[in-house]
Amino acid sequence: MPRPIKAIIHMASLRHNLAAMRKLAAGRTLWAVVKANAYGHGLERAVRAFTQADGLAMIDISDIEKARSYGWTKRILLLQGFFRKEDLAIIEHFDAEAVVHNEEGIRLLEQCAPFGELKIHIKINSGMNRFGFRPKEEATVRRRLEAIRGVTVMGIVTHFANACPDFDYGGPVSVKEQMEQLGPLAKRKNGACFANSAATIWLPEVGGDAVRVGISLYGISPEPAISSQTLGIKPAMTLSSEILAIQTISPGESVGYCSRFTANRPSRIGVVACGFADGYLRSMPQGSPVYVEGKMAPIVGNIAMDVMMVDLTDIDEAHVGSAVELWGRHVAVTDLATRAGTIAAELLCAIAPRVPFEEDNS
Ligand SMILES: *Cc1c(COP(=O)(O)O)cnc(C)c1O
Repeated sequence: MPRPIKAIIHMASLRHNLAAMRKLAAGRTLWAVVKANAYGHGLERAVRAFTQADGLAMIDISDIEKARSYGWTKRILLLQGFFRKEDLAIIEHFDAEAVVHNEEGIRLLEQCAPFGELKIHIKINSGMNRFGFRPKEEATVRRRLEAIRGVTVMGIVTHFANACPDFDYGGPVSVKEQMEQLGPLAKRKNGACFANSAATIWLPEVGGDAVRVGISLYGISPEPAISSQTLGIKPAMTLSSEILAIQTISPGESVGYCSRFTANRPSRIGVVACGFADGYLRSMPQGSPVYVEGKMAPIVGNIAMDVMMVDLTDIDEAHVGSAVELWGRHVAVTDLATRAGTIAAELLCAIAPRVPFEEDNS
């Protein structure tokens, strides 16, 4: 029998979240972001769950062919564009679209022309300072692109550094500042795509005629202080396992590597089949919860490669074979991420290949 750990993907939740974000997109084109294996949920599953999206947005060029082979016939957008000549042939062949974000990209297009038809979006750097042309360069870039045979300019794309409520109009590099940087481009409608999940949820006024939503589709609130429930979205992944063994220890006895936890009372310690080689963060602090037999059990001791230990002293019903939810409906992955000083997306994307995935189609 394989180890009992598994990741369960709730297909109905993915569909529900898409419908919820569709409402918030308020008539704008909805790009479902499926980068990084659909934030760890599986590209093929995302393709099936997001049939109501207008397009898929991704990073990895090889995902274009995969998405087409899974039956995706609608639009595909490559968010960070292309790197080499061969990439352009793939984009064209599979009828995808790509952003161009720098001079090298324009030159590659000029060198490789003519194309049958290649659909390009102009990436604008409005203050995040990763990719893109400055807003004042847009007109020149557009003219150069339009002069290339076979290239169609579809619109402009920009990305916000801080679109959560605390920062929207206040913090450093606020959405307001980025919209001001855009100048007249901020008023663009046709083909303009500004909002990520956070801006789609909290800042409908940013406008444009398309949105790119990722994390929200997986049921995760972009702002850890605001629950997914409040937003009407449902976490789509449960990471579950079982208790493999239970030790009864006395006060003064320690648990696991480096004896990091020492009991101060007679304790029942459960050994859970989930370790850092499954992708669970070893940096998760002691005391972080797992869910067992209807209650929260705190993690004790160092997380090992294949197992972690939890304190079951206050959970009489817990036994060898009890199901353990590492995260899902009871343990919010955003809460765990906050405890570990990171964001939920890192936990979701970190699940190791050895963990089997299952689909919940209820
Ligand atoms: C990841 C990404 C998104 C989606 O952001 P979420 O916060 O997950 O909604 C949108 N646009 C770009 C360019 C991205 O890289």
